[in-house]
Amino acid sequence: MIIGGKSMSVRKFKYVIVGAGLAGVSAIEGIRERDPAGAVLLIGEEPHLPYDRPPLSKKLWTGKKQEAEIYLHPREWYEQLAVELLLGKRVVDLDAAGRTVAVEGDRRRVGYEKLLLATGGTPRILNLPGADLPGIIPYRTLDDYRAVRALAEPGAGALVIGNGFIGAEMAAALSLSGVNVTMVYPGERLIPRVLPEGLGRALQAAYAARGIELLPGQRTVAFTREGDGIVAATDRGRTVKTKFVVPGIGISPSTELAAAAGLALGDGIRVDERMATSDPSIFAAGDNAGFVHPGPGGRRRLEHWDNAVQQGRHAGRSMTGALEPFAAMPYFFSDLFDFGFEAVGELDPLMQVEADWTRENDTGVLYYLRDGLVRGVMLCNVWDKIEEARELIRAGRRVRPEELRGAIR
Ligand SMILES: Cc1cc2nc3c(=O)[nH]c(=O)nc-3n(C[C@H](O)[C@H](O)[C@H](O)COP(=O)(O)OP(=O)(O)OC[C@H]3O[C@@H](n4cnc5c(N)ncnc54)[C@H](O)[C@@H]3O)c2cc1C
Repeated sequence: MIIGGKSMSVRKFKYVIVGAGLAGVSAIEGIRERDPAGAVLLIGEEPHLPYDRPPLSKKLWTGKKQEAEIYLHPREWYEQLAVELLLGKRVVDLDAAGRTVAVEGDRRRVGYEKLLLATGGTPRILNLPGADLPGIIPYRTLDDYRAVRALAEPGAGALVIGNGFIGAEMAAALSLSGVNVTMVYPGERLIPRVLPEGLGRALQAAYAARGIELLPGQRTVAFTREGDGIVAATDRGRTVKTKFVVPGIGISPSTELAAAAGLALGDGIRVDERMATSDPSIFAAGDNAGFVHPGPGGRRRLEHWDNAVQQGRHAGRSMTGALEPFAAMPYFFSDLFDFGFEAVGELDPLMQVEADWTRENDTGVLYYLRDGLVRGVMLCNVWDKIEEARELIRAGRRVRPEELRGAIR
């Protein structure tokens, strides 16, 4: 390649992974299962060694984990697997025809034989007046955690926007840390895209009983600075004066590189059952990948921890030439005060949901059925039963609701 009249060499790697998150790191494991020696480069925009995100809204707040414990692997792990790390660097261009990427600030491009886009997602930003004020912190990264932590003194006020997982988990985490939390969201209950109405309302009541002020059915419309605080106004005329704000309104999959390179997109980067994109040398996995779910549900994109692990590993194997179709059925989990769950399959509250409670809205199993088939299972404060739930879904057998009583305990 000639740049400015000078010949620029390309640094070549057999495998290049863009995105040093969970899917990217899991891909290393997949690659090394089949290719012990091929040169691997892992490029990540964040300056930290790859880490786990779930503790950012849970265990780091309850004291069950310290920051030093959230890293996926120590630096030596990468050294032992002969993986070169390029951290604190953003990939800014992908030339799919030339099989190279450009790294911000580096004149030399990086060449690949196989590339993985494990770029995850970025938090959606509120498009509102004042949404860029300091103290309004969309929540995704370790640096976001540190920024919120620095503000989250006991007795301080926090406004959490959103009733999905991040909003609900952050409200619980901050409340447990002594912060006075207000939650605002346009819906009528918590986690409405997954929890059936009764459970969502019961959880909401539990939040209120914990002292969280809930403002359902309203939207924030503007933020203004007042002294050292922020005033948020809602469309119902409420104002909330607070020290800081955590918007948890979802993420957008990071597809810019794929889009600019002309790869097929849908919801996220479209991949086949090997996690290959429309370019057979380029793969995608994790929060940014729209794939065909082997269980029920068809093509979709998941934003869950186990999905990133399984897809990342699978993509890594495929990058070495493996032809296996993706067959895993990833689970997901959450912790909301005393209510914790693990779930697998398709969980749409509009489906028929059969509840087998041993303690109502606290401990038991929810079965999500469509056409008489169990498509999804949520294990509420019931642990180590994910494999049984997967078997029930895979069996694909028509069941009568009464057969499900005690099916998983
Ligand atoms: C606070 C929080 C709590 C969560 N809790 C749970 C939970 O309880 N249960 C659950 O199942 N899931 C949970 N999740 C979701 C889970 O963590 C994600 O599904 C998982 O992290 C996705 O992994 P990923 O590798 O696809 O993406 P990410 O983890 O987002 O990693 C992608 C990485 O790529 C980097 N990157 C992006 N673009 C570029 C570029 N151009 N160049 C270089 N680097 C780039 C990003 O900076 C990022 O570090 C949680 C997520 C968050 C944020």
